[in-house]
Amino acid sequence: MRDLTPMIVGRLAPSPTGGLHWGHARTFLAAWLAARSAGGRVILRIEDLDRSRVRVEAAAGMVADLRWLGLDWDEGPDVGGAHAPYVQSERLTSIEEALQRLKARELVYPCTCTRAEIARSASAPHAEDEGPSYPGTCSRNSSADAGRLRGKPFAWRFRTPSGPVCWDDLFRGKLDLDPSVVGGDFLVAREGLGPSYQLAVVVDDAAMGVNQVVRGADLVPSTPRQILLDRAFGVPEPRFGHVPLVVGPDGRRLAKRDRSITLAALRARGVDPSRLVARLGSSLGIDGLNGPARPSDLIGRFDPARVSAEAFAVDWEDAAIESMKEGKSERKNEK
Ligand code: GLU
Repeated sequence: MRDLTPMIVGRLAPSPTGGLHWGHARTFLAAWLAARSAGGRVILRIEDLDRSRVRVEAAAGMVADLRWLGLDWDEGPDVGGAHAPYVQSERLTSIEEALQRLKARELVYPCTCTRAEIARSASAPHAEDEGPSYPGTCSRNSSADAGRLRGKPFAWRFRTPSGPVCWDDLFRGKLDLDPSVVGGDFLVAREGLGPSYQLAVVVDDAAMGVNQVVRGADLVPSTPRQILLDRAFGVPEPRFGHVPLVVGPDGRRLAKRDRSITLAALRARGVDPSRLVARLGSSLGIDGLNGPARPSDLIGRFDPARVSAEAFAVDWEDAAIESMKEGKSERKNEK
């Protein structure tokens, strides 16, 4: 019988705002394995909408880091593909058109509040960026009110209905969150400055046929917003999966301060990527990884149900990094 299950299409969607570190590597490995283990395709998309944070040279460095790890993709900026372009800033026309459709249906309204939040909206809001819920101050505005606001900075907010939005998370099972309580009406665009992360990601995922979105757990609050946008556009909701975060030995989320564990730094220290991948693979619940492993060796051995729900504490003591260098004798991966 013909297999009618749709092919899994996953994506890696890094933002070129700095070097990739251990945490990104683990999340991207999980996203890649979740697609490849299901016989699926992988798309690389560069999310560069936040002009204030994007560093031009970072995009090429990220692609080199991902290749160094041993990940590959079927479509992307360096390999082309049927859904080109793969750099978000080159896709603005279709995202703007989608915004026009929301305006025409009064699903969004113009808002002049909270300039700081507006300034940040082109970037994905990671856990610590989630601010207080928007109180709805401008929600009486209609799309046409944008005319009288010309000349003032303003943004467009999505009218978020109240009630929980549920999804079956690839790693965490049934989850629900009420986006009207967590954040409230959220930003979809800044007038004259372009779309927000929330809108861009939904329009691009739908246009590229992405049906599996695996990313870090700090983006959980964005998921119900993106599901509401999928519903508003009448496009299928992707299957979402949120990988628990990587924290430092002190229990804090990895950040730019942790320069020593950027992939570029590990590479400069002579770390063998296959040893790093084996470490990351065992941290994702793959048993028996005692020697080096490429991502392709792990296809079929990855089971989302075995990924621990706990944050993963990385050990980047010099000794741990030494043990991952080229030519080191094999040893058991500690948990
Ligand atoms: N580009 C976003 C980031 O690097 C992630 C977007 C996503 O996976 O939805 O934070």
